[in-house]
Formats: sequence, C-alpha cells, structure tokens
Amino acid sequence: MLKSKNVDDFRQRCSEVTLQSEEQGHFSSFVRMVAEANPKFRETFDELSTDEERVYYCTMLNKVDHMIVKPVFKPKDLEVAKAKRAEGNSAYQKKRYKQAMMLYTMSAMKAPSTGDDTLAYSIANRSACLYYMGDLKRCLADIEFALAQGYPAQLQYKLYERKAKCFVHQKQFDKAKTALISAKKNVEANKDKFDDKKLSQAIKSLKELLALITQHKGIDDEVIVAEEEESPVQPKLTKGCNKKMQDLSNLVKVEHNEDVGRHVIAAKHVKAGDTLAVEEPFAAVLYQDKLGSNCDNCFSKLRAAVPCPNCAGVGYCSVACRDQACSSFHKYECQYNVLIQGLGSSALVRLAYRIVVSQSLKFFNNIKHNLNVDEKQSEIDSLALHYSIPGVSKATYLSYLSMFNLVGLDGMRWQEDLFNRALMSVCLLKILKSTQYFPNKSDQNTFTSDEVFIGSLMMRHMNVLQFNAHEIYEFFRGDRSRMKPFKNNLIGVGVYPQASYFNHSCHPGTTRYNIGKKLVLKSLTPILPGQEVCENYGQVFYLKTKTERQKELSGRYWFNCECIACSEDWPLLKENSKVVWKADKNQSALDDLKTVFDCGSDFMEHGQGKDAVESLTEYINEVYKLVDPPLETVIRAEDKLRTCFNNMGTVLFQDTALKINPQEKR
Ligand SMILES: [Zn+2]
Ligand SMILES: [Zn+2]
Ligand SMILES: [Zn+2]
Repeated sequence: MLKSKNVDDFRQRCSEVTLQSEEQGHFSSFVRMVAEANPKFRETFDELSTDEERVYYCTMLNKVDHMIVKPVFKPKDLEVAKAKRAEGNSAYQKKRYKQAMMLYTMSAMKAPSTGDDTLAYSIANRSACLYYMGDLKRCLADIEFALAQGYPAQLQYKLYERKAKCFVHQKQFDKAKTALISAKKNVEANKDKFDDKKLSQAIKSLKELLALITQHKGIDDEVIVAEEEESPVQPKLTKGCNKKMQDLSNLVKVEHNEDVGRHVIAAKHVKAGDTLAVEEPFAAVLYQDKLGSNCDNCFSKLRAAVPCPNCAGVGYCSVACRDQACSSFHKYECQYNVLIQGLGSSALVRLAYRIVVSQSLKFFNNIKHNLNVDEKQSEIDSLALHYSIPGVSKATYLSYLSMFNLVGLDGMRWQEDLFNRALMSVCLLKILKSTQYFPNKSDQNTFTSDEVFIGSLMMRHMNVLQFNAHEIYEFFRGDRSRMKPFKNNLIGVGVYPQASYFNHSCHPGTTRYNIGKKLVLKSLTPILPGQEVCENYGQVFYLKTKTERQKELSGRYWFNCECIACSEDWPLLKENSKVVWKADKNQSALDDLKTVFDCGSDFMEHGQGKDAVESLTEYINEVYKLVDPPLETVIRAEDKLRTCFNNMGTVLFQDTALKINPQEKR
C-alpha cells in the first residue's frame, strides 16, 4: 500500500488494516504496480475533491486493466460429497449420530444441487441422525428439504414415516396421521418399484405406527427429545421509541453542536438497566473464519447447515435464510467470494460491498440526489416528511441516508490513503461488473456513470465504516451453572446507523450485546437529563492507562478523548479505593448497599443472570446518589452488570458448541 511520509506511522497502519487484513493479499502489490505505472498520478489525483472523481480517475490509470476478474469461489465437488456421505453412513451404522450428522453436512455442502441425488440422500440421512439425537425441529426441516430436493419417490415414504414419528414424540397426533397418510399414498403410488418382501415390510411398519397414533401412544425407540434451546428474550425500548429515531428509546435524543457534532444526550432520567437502543444492522458480514460455523444471513450458530445451491463457501441455518440471502446479496457474492478474499480485503471492505449488493441499482439511483444532507439531522427530517420513492421502504431509505452521512473524516485523510481506498473501490467495482448487478453492461475496462457512482458509494462506505462499524459477538459460556468462565466470541461486523450516533467515553454509561445480528444497548449507570450518553469503542479506563487509551483512540478513530476519565486521569481499577462523596459522608448507607452488591455478585456467580441484574442495577442506581465514580466497587458492579447483559444475547455453551468449520478459531 502507498504510505505518506508526513502522517504518523501508527495511524497509517490502523487505517490500512481497515482496508486490508493481511499484507499477502493481491491488493497491496496491485496498488504499487498501478502507482509505478502512473508516476505522475498525484499531480491530478491531489486536485480531485469528490469520491466520484477519485474513483473515475482511478478507473483510467495504466495497468488497472491488469486486474482480471474471473469467478473464483469454493466449488461443489461430487467426489468429496460422495466420500463424506459414505463416511457418514459408516458412522451412522455405529450409532455415532453426532459425527454422522457432521459428515452428512460436509457432504451436503459439497454436493451439487442439480443433476445428482447425493444432496437429497445426505440431507435425508442427516434427518435420521437428528431424529435419534432428539432434535425434532431440525429433523422435520431436513425432511422437507430432502423432499424438495427430489429424494427418490420409492423411498419418500420413509421420510413421511419419520415425520409422523416426530409428531408422535411431540404429541401432535393429527399431524402425525396426516404424515402417515402421505406415507401410505407414497407406497401405493410406487408399488411396482418394490419387491414383494419390501412392500409387505413397509405396509406392516406403517400399520403398526397407525395403531400407535390412533391410540395416542408413544413410540418405544429410545429417542430422548432434546429440550428446545432457550432463545434470547427480545428486548423492548424503555419508555417506547423516539419519534425521530425509531431504534432509540424515548429516554434519549440526538443533538448537534459545533464542538462534538452529532451526539446523544439523555432527554429524561436514565436508570441503570434501561434499554436505550435496539437496532438491526443496515448490513453485516461474518468474519471469514465463521463462514462455515454461522448462518451467513442471520448469523445464528449452524448445527445442520443448509448449503448455497451454487458454492460450497457459505451455510445457512434454514431454507428460508438461504432463499433470503440468495435472492439478495449472495447472488452477487457467490461466485467471487474467494476472489474478494484473495485481494486481502478486510471485513469492512466486504461490508462496504455488501451494503451495495443488499440493495438494487435502482434504489441507489432513486436516492442519488438526496444523499448529502447536513449534520444537524434537520434535512433528513424534512426528506422523511416529503418522502416518495416508489419501491423503496421509508425505513430503508432513512437508514441508508443516516449511514451515508456518518462521520468519514474525509477532510483529515492523506492523499495516499484516499488513493488506496479509491483503488480498492475500483477492484470491488470490477468484481461487481462481472455479476448481473448492472443491467446495461459495458466491457471490463470501460465504466459507465452508473458504475462510477456505485464505485464511489463503496468508497464512501469504507470511509464511514472505518469509524462507525460495530463488531458482533456471541457470548460463550463454559458452564451452565456458573456465569464464569465466559468469553465474547467475535463473529462479524455490522453497521447500525442510529447506534452510531453515540460517542465514546472511557467510562461509558452503557454496554451493548447482540441477539443474532441485532444490537441492543443497555445503560450501566444512571444518566441525568442533558448529560451525554456514551458508549465504548474498546478502551476502558480501568484496564489501560490514559496514555495507552489515547494512543489507541487517536490511531484508530482519529480523536483525542476528552471524557471525564481522561480529563481527570482516573486510576486503574485496583487503585480506586478513595471515596468521592456527592454530598455529606454517609458510610453506613454505603455499607448497607454493599450487601446488595454482594447479593448481585453471588447470583451472577451461580449463573442466575436475571436476579443478578436486579440486584446490581439496584445497587448502582442507589450508590450513584451517594458517591461519584470511579470507586472500585461501583466499577466492579458495572462490569458485572455488563457480563449479565451479554448473557441476555446470543449465548453459546461449551457442551453444545459444534465445531463444523475446522478453520474456526475460538
Ligand atoms: Zn439464518
Ligand atoms: Zn453461493
Ligand atoms: Zn477517554
């Protein structure tokens, strides 16, 4: 990548990693090659003032045509699919159902979706594993999937029979009967394909099952129905939603001033434990090493993955997620996944691309003339008022507009950085041009105004994402009866236009967790009306010194933190025993409260998250009436509360975690 001699080296490196995750990628050498082939490019490039001009200029440089775009992706492989199915069969015969299920999944990922039966067979066999594992919900889903995939007619009765058995276990006898009738009909329709012995066996086993169903009896086949995994409670915004910002609570509002730009303040009294934001991302991507272990559409953990029909690179949790992704963004990523990876592009670059391919060209052309609005939000408000774009939902339109206008700090960028980004946009644009995204295609090396416009949007997205993307994680717990040990397992990154309005503080009054891709922001401390509500960009005062934090924040986010912890230079956690009384000293009240804190800690220790939240929020709300931070116990309470909130998001337990993707790091 190109470097500037005048900009701090740490800041340049921080910026580079938001563009390219590894130095080995092709992009690095591509930039150098183009720069060398155009020794005087800076004379013109430095004079350009918009992203559109920069991208357009870069499309015309010498040697840009050396980047050849061809489909490069993880292909299907029938031989591997067949081999994995055979391995699955032998594990199944030994009743190693979990292992067999994983082998059938590997087979399904690699099996072509047309022209061969392997996919249907592997999914049908997997449904048998899931049945014996007691995972009836996924078993039923696989039965439907195998049938839709063209499982051979003379064998289908077995799937209907299994379906009926699932319903018997669930005590849904009417549904069981319907499934059994389908099984019978299927046997009759395919009579000529059975030999006499098989036919009488099939009829006999269906008859026996019918008898059980009619008498509402259970089946004696050692299936222990697995408990449904508890799904996280969908949180509601405290005091309803803000009228202008549907994803923020009515307790807060977005303000603007010259010093800090847009920021969020408390409109009413916020208490510890309030829900301040609940937002779906405008778009999100999984990290590369999570592609085989989480659904590429909803990010849930995969157990019995549904493959993409065309590539072996991504998995989905359900047919519905597959269809949603494949009819939207994935059709523009499917054949080029490995090519994009090969550039060495960061997750943020892939996200910049996905934001584009999640919407149609028409969407962007329709809103082209409304893109740049002022920071004060008033223009977005008035555009919302006069909104009329056919075929585009108002929420999507406003969400994109908010995202597009987040801080990208273009004025602080150095020319080399802009050049790296413009050229990365051209690479992505060339890939996008090779898909069906643009209806009127030009050849690989000439660019229409539509294409340059979309390229400039990708550049804008990269710049905005550098400072505004949020990481998405699962909460990984080692033990069901205790909260510890735990770990935040990073799985991807998304852009949340409204949650991005919160500025950073090294002592944030809030914390966030994820349910799937959804972001939830909870308050950790009371916040008075008029006070700024901040979140944290990864640097907290009690773990790192001010110098360390400031270096990180200035390198990564380009600002000098002036939060209270920085301006008063608060000490690290262990050194915070000094009590700062709000009014008169009241040691006995403080000691009393300590018992509430101890209760909260105890609940947390024993994995009782809900009770822990109750005690800890009570302690924090009361203790802030007596003292000011950073008292050690207060900070510890906030930290414990953060852990309890994480536990309300997507939680994963060590004993249920399946490692399907061998590359996955944990
Ligand atoms: Zn999904
Ligand atoms: Zn695909
Ligand atoms: Zn700070």
